[in-house]
This record gives sequence, C-alpha cells and structure tokens, in this order.
Amino acid sequence: MNLSSVTCPICGAKISGSNDKYHFTCRFCSFKKAPALGTKQNTENYLEKSLKDIGQILALKDIPEIYVDGAQEEDLRQIKNVHQVKLIPCAGNIQKIDGIWSPMTLPFQDDLPGFFKEKFRQLNPGGILYLSTPVARVFQRNLPLTGQINFFTSKNIMFLLEQHGFKMAWRKNRFAQTLKIIARRN
Ligand SMILES: [Zn+2]
Repeated sequence: MNLSSVTCPICGAKISGSNDKYHFTCRFCSFKKAPALGTKQNTENYLEKSLKDIGQILALKDIPEIYVDGAQEEDLRQIKNVHQVKLIPCAGNIQKIDGIWSPMTLPFQDDLPGFFKEKFRQLNPGGILYLSTPVARVFQRNLPLTGQINFFTSKNIMFLLEQHGFKMAWRKNRFAQTLKIIARRN
C-alpha cells in the first residue's frame, strides 16, 4: 500500500510521519497546521484594530482606494475611516488594483499558495498587500484563535511572500506576537 505523504505548503518539504494534511508540523520551516478549535470569529473585530495601520500603506503608495479582504460593505461602513481612502470589499473577481488589506486572514486560510497567487493576480505591479497574523516567538506561545488552522513564524511568512513575488516594504514591531507586514508586488 502506498501511504500518501503530506507536502509542506510553504517550503515544499515532505512531512515524514504524517499523512494528515490538516495536522502536521514541518520540521524544515516550522510551519504548523492543526485542526480548528471552534468557529472563526467575525472579521470586524480584526478589521477595526488593524485599520490603525492604514496610514502606512498610504505612506508607501498614495492610492485612492484599498480593497479589504473578508469584509462586507456594511462592515466597512461602520468603521471610522479617518484616512482619505475608499475602503471596498475585496471580491475574488476584482483585478488591476493597487492595495489589498488582509488582516488576520492567513490563520484561517485553507489554501495558502492559492491565497498568494490570487493576491498577485489581483494587484498591479508595485501594488501593496497588508497582512497580519499571530506568529510563534521563541519564548512565548500564543493561544490559538478560534478557528485558526495555520500557525506561522515570521520567517515562514517572509518565505511565502518571496516565493509568490512579493517584497517586504514595512513591518511593525519585529518582536510582537502579531506580525503586521506590508509587502509590495513585484
Ligand atoms: Zn515547511
């Protein structure tokens, strides 16, 4: 019998000793996948907090509109937007745009390479992508978010970005438990 093995979606290593693609740890890049505890929280909680960083995108690139992942029109209407930028829900069919805001979507993303391929396809060259996600640090452990399935380190996020044609342009507090990063599409 040929046991199917799991391939790490970040570094491509074959994971020995696991054939469960929803539950493994990659010993090469430290990426961890684990079954969700509970259902995912509403996005608005993350949105509101992360929008404080929106000025950082505008400092890097002066754009009239930013497309927000996982948000509905009404979520965005309720948010106090102090910046001179229009916030629009980021639907899958949207293309040729200059800015995508993707707060706390990576921890819940089923298909990581697919996620980055989609962002690359949607953005214009030089377009900007904001990401935030909890990351494991050497001396601290984060409690999983409800619904979280992907567990990252900041190193493997950098690797994912590079691999999919993005370069880091801004990063908040290197040692924080939540990684906040703005990358530029090549
Ligand atoms: Zn790996």
